[in-house]
Amino acid sequence: MKISIIGTGYVGTVSAACFAELGHRVVCVDIDQEKIDLINAGIAPIYEEGLPELLKKHAGKRLNATTDYEFAVRNSEVSFICVATPQDPDGKIDLGIVKAASSSLGNSLKNKKEYHVIVVKSTVVPETTEKVVLPIIEKHSGKHHGDFGIAMNPEFLREGKAVYDFMHPDKIVVGSLDKKAGDIVASLYSGLECEVTRTNPRTAEMIKYTNNAFLATRISFANEIGNICKELGIDTYEVMNAVGRDFRIGQYFLNAGAGFGGSCFPKDVKALIGKASEIGYEPLLLKSVIEINERQPSRMVQILKNKLGKLSGKKIAVLGLAFKNDTDDVRESRSIPVIKELLDNGVKVSAYDPMANENMSRIFNNVQYNNNAADTLHGADACLIMTEWDEFRELDKEFNVMKRKLVIDGRHMLTPPGKDIEYVGLCW
Ligand code: NAD
Repeated sequence: MKISIIGTGYVGTVSAACFAELGHRVVCVDIDQEKIDLINAGIAPIYEEGLPELLKKHAGKRLNATTDYEFAVRNSEVSFICVATPQDPDGKIDLGIVKAASSSLGNSLKNKKEYHVIVVKSTVVPETTEKVVLPIIEKHSGKHHGDFGIAMNPEFLREGKAVYDFMHPDKIVVGSLDKKAGDIVASLYSGLECEVTRTNPRTAEMIKYTNNAFLATRISFANEIGNICKELGIDTYEVMNAVGRDFRIGQYFLNAGAGFGGSCFPKDVKALIGKASEIGYEPLLLKSVIEINERQPSRMVQILKNKLGKLSGKKIAVLGLAFKNDTDDVRESRSIPVIKELLDNGVKVSAYDPMANENMSRIFNNVQYNNNAADTLHGADACLIMTEWDEFRELDKEFNVMKRKLVIDGRHMLTPPGKDIEYVGLCW
C-alpha cells in the first residue's frame, strides 16, 4: 500500500523504513528540511541499529521524504501521525504538535476524492484520537468521519532496538471507530508474524499508557527495594534474581539503579497522572513511581558527598550520558540531574558517552566531553557510571589514571574490581 508518515523522529523514521522493507511505498513528511534531505540521501537522522542499512536500501525507491503535506496525502492511502507529544510545564500532555499535524492533514484531505485513513501513532492520552484529532480533521477537510477513516495504532518499540522491535513485535494494537479503517491499518502489518489486537481508539491509547506505566512501576519498585537492601547490607540483585524466578513475576525490569529516563516513561506516566487528575481521580501509585524515580539520581551524588565531603573544585568523571545504552538519545537521561547537581556544587565534570556527547553538549556546554573512558577518568576524584553501555563492563586498568579510585556504579555494570578500587553500588 501507499503510506505517508508525518514526523520523522525515532518512531516516524523507523516506521517508514520498516514499512518500506515490508514492501509498502512510503512518503515521509517533516517540517525539518534537514531531516528530509538526510532521509532522501539515504542517511539516518538518528542513531538506530539497522536503520542506516534500510534507508540506504529504500531511499529514492520505495521511500521518499518531503515537507509537502499535500503531496504526501495525494500519494498515499494511509497517513500515520508520528509527531512528538511532549509534556507541558505541569507535566500534562502537550498536544500542540499533534493538533498542528492534524490541521495540515485535514487541509490536505480537502481536495482528495479517494478514501484515506488517518492513524495516530504518537502516544496520546485516552480520548485524544476521537475528541481532538478527529474534529480537527473534519473541520479542516470539510469531510465527515466515514468519508475518511480514523484509527489509533500505538508504538511499543524500544529505542536502540527499534528496527528489530518493529519487525518482530510481540503485539500490534489497532483501535478504530469502524471496521473498514481498522482492516486497512491491520493489513499493513500482514507481513509480520504477530496477531493484531483490534479495539476502539481510546482502549488502544490506554493500552500504550498502561504498558509504559507498568514497566516504570516495576523499575521504581525495584529501586525502592534496592534502597532498602542497601541500608541493610543486602545485594538487591541477588534478591531480585530469586524473586524473578516466580513465573508470575519474571526477570525483566527488576534492575535497581539510577532510575528510568528517555522520551517515554517519565512523560507518559506524568501524562497519565494528568489525565487521571482531569477526571477527578488521584493516582497515588503513579505519583510515587515518579517521585522515587526523581530521587534516585540524587542518591548517587549523596554517596559521593559521603565519601568525598565538600565537592567544590573536585573533578568527577561521568561515564554514560544517553538515557540507556545503544542510543544517542539523552531526553530525561538520569545523568542530566546528576550533572546539574554536580555543577551546582562547583564540580569540574569530565564526561564520556560512546554516542551521546554531542546531544548532551546542547544541554551542558560547561562540561568537558571526551572521546573515551580513559581520558575521562584522568585525574578524577571519583567516577559515576550512569549508562549501561557494554564497553563500561570491560573497564579495569583505565581506573588507574584516577586521582582517587572511587567508582560509584548507578547501573550494576561492574563486578567489584580489585582491592585498590573503592567500588560502591547505588543499591547493592
Ligand atoms: P521525535 O521528537 O524524535 O520526532 C518528532 C518529529 O516530528 C520531529 O522530526 C519533528 O521535526 C517532527 N514534527 C514536528 N512538528 C511537525 C509537524 N507539524 N508536521 C510534521 N512533522 C513535525 O519524536 P519520537 O521520539 O519519534 O516520538 C513520536 C511519538 O511516538 C511520541 O508521541 C512518543 O511518545 C511516541 N513513542 C516514542 C517512542 C520512542 O522510543 N521514541 C516509542 C514509542 C512511542
